[in-house]
Amino acid sequence: MINLTPKKICTGCGACVKICPRQAITLKPDKEGFLYPSINESLCSHCSLCVQKCPCLKTASIVNHNLYFGAHSKEPSIRSLGSSGGIFPLLAIHVLQQGGIVFGACLMEDGSVAHNGIERIEDLDKITKTKYVQSNLSNVWETIQTSLAEGRIVLFCGTPCQTEGLQSYLGKDYSNLFLIDLVCYGVPSPEIWQRYINFLQRKYASKPLMFYFRDKCNQDNGHTVKIQCKEKEYTYSVYKDLFLRSYFKNVNIRPSCYHCSHCTVLRKSDITLGDFWGIERIRPLFDDGMGNSIIICHTTKGKALFNAIEEQLFWFSCEEQDILQPRLIEPTKYPLLRWFYMLLYRILPFSLWIRLF
Ligand SMILES: Cc1cc2nc3c(=O)[nH]c(=O)nc-3n(C[C@H](O)[C@H](O)[C@H](O)COP(=O)(O)OP(=O)(O)OC[C@H]3O[C@@H](n4cnc5c(N)ncnc54)[C@H](O)[C@@H]3O)c2cc1C
Repeated sequence: MINLTPKKICTGCGACVKICPRQAITLKPDKEGFLYPSINESLCSHCSLCVQKCPCLKTASIVNHNLYFGAHSKEPSIRSLGSSGGIFPLLAIHVLQQGGIVFGACLMEDGSVAHNGIERIEDLDKITKTKYVQSNLSNVWETIQTSLAEGRIVLFCGTPCQTEGLQSYLGKDYSNLFLIDLVCYGVPSPEIWQRYINFLQRKYASKPLMFYFRDKCNQDNGHTVKIQCKEKEYTYSVYKDLFLRSYFKNVNIRPSCYHCSHCTVLRKSDITLGDFWGIERIRPLFDDGMGNSIIICHTTKGKALFNAIEEQLFWFSCEEQDILQPRLIEPTKYPLLRWFYMLLYRILPFSLWIRLF
């Protein structure tokens, strides 16, 4: 019997599902609503490819010659498309203009969050902006592989565990693949999120058509939640949203996030993007409430991609210590009472449980 990656460190990237030559692995939700691989023993040939290729079990030493930048898009409408400085939308437009295909996380009609590929600039708003929910990659693996094989430029943006999962699945470097990963606080449970959307539907007597986790309408660097229902729009502080409160209390995030090995400036991607918190200390004029990004170029390919958009940015180069923030130093802390909150999650009605926050 194959012993899959321990739950404590499994990020649920799904690479093992795709790598298995006998389709013996599927992802199944656990009691907290996170997806974990499960093996159908009757199909498994014990080749152990799933374990050999699992990115969570690999300890590669990474050597980066990083370049650090602070930036935001010059064009306000593009800056507004992103949660920070609108760097991802600019990179995406550049790749789309070359006939490439861009992959990012999309809030689907049923409320779930899943990665999708887009080929037209008109579709960009589907995959921009931060969604604080673990995104499902299962729809995109084959399209990415086929597009790369056809020689198309592919831009993929996701959490660092997702870009690493993709690299494991692909098994080799592609000169036409650009990998962007994010500074990441941790990913919340897709099931808790789905139940929250249902809770909001009852509360507002209308299905939320769109949920913006980080809206900038109040010029507060995206500290506003905006919910679009059919006839009405609701906006309030992120600190008042019950789902985000459970997130910021570190309760609803995936167990592996508390042991994340990517909370560092050393990455296997080409570029890392994040919020430039603390920019007011080093570039006060950049801090106009509309969001700024940190950009870390790890590879020459990443730097070339940055160079392709630099004229469309207000930017400055800086030192590592200028951009450092908690999630580039250590993982989010495991809250002592997490086990208790999760026990209650299983026994209380959701509408009561979410009000604990
Ligand atoms: C779960 C999560 C936690 C984060 N935590 C931090 C943090 O602690 N500190 C920090 O500095 N920055 C964090 N970020 C990154 C930050 O919020 C911005 O996404 C980043 O600065 C890029 O902003 P942008 O304006 O350039 O473009 P945006 O358009 O905002 O770029 C967002 C990119 O992230 C992708 N994305 C959105 N949601 C998800 C998701 N759930 N899973 C995978 N990919 C997703 C989108 O597809 C898009 O490619 C986090 C992002 C996510 C998704």
